[in-house]
Amino acid sequence: MRFCRFNDNRLGLVEGSSVRDVTAALDVLPAARYPYPTHDVFIAHLDEVAARAKALAASGPLLALDGLKLLSPVANPGKLVAAPVNYEKHLAEVKSDASLHQNTASHTMTIHKAGVFLKATSSLAGPGEGVALRVPDRRTDHEVELAFVIGRTASRVPRTEALRYVAGYAIGLDISIRGTEDKSFRKSADTYSVLGPWLVTADEIADPGVLDLELRVNGEQRQYANTSEMTLGVAALIEMASSFYTLYPGDVVFTGTPAGVSPIDPGDEIVATIQGIGSMRVAVRADAAATAGAAGGAAAARG
Ligand code: MN
Repeated sequence: MRFCRFNDNRLGLVEGSSVRDVTAALDVLPAARYPYPTHDVFIAHLDEVAARAKALAASGPLLALDGLKLLSPVANPGKLVAAPVNYEKHLAEVKSDASLHQNTASHTMTIHKAGVFLKATSSLAGPGEGVALRVPDRRTDHEVELAFVIGRTASRVPRTEALRYVAGYAIGLDISIRGTEDKSFRKSADTYSVLGPWLVTADEIADPGVLDLELRVNGEQRQYANTSEMTLGVAALIEMASSFYTLYPGDVVFTGTPAGVSPIDPGDEIVATIQGIGSMRVAVRADAAATAGAAGGAAAARG
């Protein structure tokens, strides 16, 4: 099944180029009171929501996918985990380009030594929300990545059992300001973790380690690879992350980007595609406040 979240928090089932509105399926979620769960309740109850959505699908309104504003399919992840340098050719490109590794040696070491890092959950956005460049005078790059969503609580899970903990897959963009600061700082600006266009449930992807992925900017291909080239696959990443902390339903893992990262500018259109998932269009703009701030600064300087 393919679940999307769209417009003002509607829930949809994607059927080809149409979406069946099954928002009423969310009524099966338990009522919550403070303190709210720190996991995503939709993902924690995905089986019940899916059963209700199937029952509702026949009578749900059918909408054209084209006109919808797609949001992140997971609304409230407890954490966003991300893999650095998980493709050998990207590691080679980082090593050979000083503008890509200005901070520490951690940029040029393998993932086995670097481990995984965290991005702020406030950086999460859907493709329909676009990317707002927060610091327009700093180099900011696209990174297309297979992303997966944890389906049930996972602690110290060996890789041989790990795929059973995956709820589903989506396309991720790990938008990154280049520079000297810590990764969690440079990659956590609002909208810098794009997830979409929908969640493909794990039963539809038998092997996440054989998927082509591609990213185009304004129609030009910038990144093209296959997830078989990942140093640590999905199962190994779950083993690594869950050896240090518990993963909860709705936690999102970005699996790392292949070679071909390059700068993006306001007005660009990114199209990211992953085999078995689909494609998403993401518009790049300057953050309105950053632009106003820069203009105000210039005016003040002139004054
Ligand atoms: Mn990345």
